[in-house]
Amino acid sequence: MNPKLEIFSQGEEIVTGQTVDTNASWLSQQAVQLGFTVVRHTAVGDKLEDLIQLLTDIAARADCCICTGGLGPTTDDLTAEAVAQAFRRPLKFDSIAFAQMQQFFANRNKTMPESNCKQAMLPQHAERIDNEWGTAPGFALQQGRCWFVFLPGVPSEMRSMFLEKIQPGINKRFSLKPGKLITLKTIGIGESDIQERIKSVIVPESVQLGFRADSDEVQVKLLFPSDYPEPFVVTLLSDMLAKLGAYVFTVDGYSSEVTGDLAFVVDELMRQAKHTLAVIETASQGLLAAKCIGSPWLLEARYVQRIEKLAEKLASPIAADDLTATAKAFAVATQKSSGADMVLVQIYAGNAEQFHSKEHVIQLFTVLLHGEHFETARHTLAGPAKRKQNQSALLALDLLRRYLQPVLMI
Ligand code: ATP
Ligand code: MG
Repeated sequence: MNPKLEIFSQGEEIVTGQTVDTNASWLSQQAVQLGFTVVRHTAVGDKLEDLIQLLTDIAARADCCICTGGLGPTTDDLTAEAVAQAFRRPLKFDSIAFAQMQQFFANRNKTMPESNCKQAMLPQHAERIDNEWGTAPGFALQQGRCWFVFLPGVPSEMRSMFLEKIQPGINKRFSLKPGKLITLKTIGIGESDIQERIKSVIVPESVQLGFRADSDEVQVKLLFPSDYPEPFVVTLLSDMLAKLGAYVFTVDGYSSEVTGDLAFVVDELMRQAKHTLAVIETASQGLLAAKCIGSPWLLEARYVQRIEKLAEKLASPIAADDLTATAKAFAVATQKSSGADMVLVQIYAGNAEQFHSKEHVIQLFTVLLHGEHFETARHTLAGPAKRKQNQSALLALDLLRRYLQPVLMI
C-alpha cells in the first residue's frame, strides 16, 4: 500500500475562489509521481478552530500532509498558531530563521518590518525548512502517524522549497514505489466514444484507468504499479492503440516522459520529413498559423474571412454544392504560387452569424494536398465561436498529422 498523502491549502482567498489552488494541483502531481496515494485536498479559510480541527483529523488518518499558505506576517496568516494549539507545541523563537529573514531584507537594502518577526516563531520541535526564495520559512514535524510539511503559499517559493528541500529526502522517510503513468493523447473523439471503443480491452484491477478531457485533447491515462511486468504493459498499450487507431496522436510516459500537444507532434513530423507547408484558413482565423509559430516549414499562411474574395484572387471558382472540390482547387492554385510541397486548405459552409451563434453548427471542409495526392476531411463543429475556431485549427493540423503518421506504433 502506498503511503496516503493529503494536501491542505490555507487561505480565505482560496475558499472564496479569488485564487485558484494551483499549489494543490502541482503538489498532487509531484506526490503521485513519487509514489504517494493522494487521498484528499482541503482548503480552509482564516478560521483558527477550523484549522485546528483539520490538522487534528489529518494527524489521525494520513501518513503525510503538505500544507501551503498562511505562513506570512499578517494577522490572517494562522498556520503556525493552529499547529501550536492543535498539537500542543507552543511557538518558539527560532534565531536562525530570524537572522535569515533579516539578511533577506538587508540584501534588498530594507529594514525588516516588525510584523515579520512573527514568521520566526515556529512550533516546538519542528524542523525549520529554509526559504532561500522569500521570507517565510517553512517547517516540518511528525505528529501521530503523519509527517506534516508546511510551506509558504506563494507558488514559486513553494515549488522551489518542495523540489530542493523536501523531495530529495523523501525516500528516507517513506517507502515509495512510484507507479508508471502512461498517457494516450487523442483528438477528434469524445470520452464516451473512447470508452465504447476500449470496453473489450481487459484492464487488470491493479492498473488505474482514467480520462481527462480539455479543449485540445482527450487523454486516456493508465497508471501501472511499479512492479507491473513490462511485457504486460506493452500488451495492454498495444490493445488500446489497436482500438483507438489514428485518434491517438502521441503516447506520453512510455518511451519518453512528455511528448507534447498536437502542434508539437506535427512540428516534429514535419521537420523529420522535411516538408514545407502553405495554409489557407477560414474558421480558425489565424489560430492554425499561430499554433505553428516558429516552425521553419510553414512558408505562408493566409486567413480569409470570405472565400469569394479568395476565389477571385486565385481565379478558382466556388462550387457551392461541393466545398471539398472548391478547397481542392484552392489548394492546387496555392501550391503553384507558394512553392510549398504541401498545402492545407480549410473552408466552411455557413455564414458569419452561424459561426458566432452557439446554437448553430457549421460544416468544415479540410483538404491537404501533397504533390498530386489529396487527403480530405469533413467535420461538424458546434458550440461558441471560440470553440469552433479552436477545433477547426486542431482538426486541420490533425489531417496533416494523420497523413504523416497514420497509426502510432510503440
Ligand atoms: P507570504 O509570506 O508571502 O504571505 P504565505 O505563506 O502567508 O506567504 P499566503 O499569504 O497564504 O502565503 O499567500 C501568498 C500568495 O500566494 C497569495 O497572494 C496567493 O496569490 C498565493 N497563493 C497562496 N496559496 C495559494 C495556492 N494554494 N495556490 C496558488 N496560489 C496561492
Ligand atoms: Mg500571507
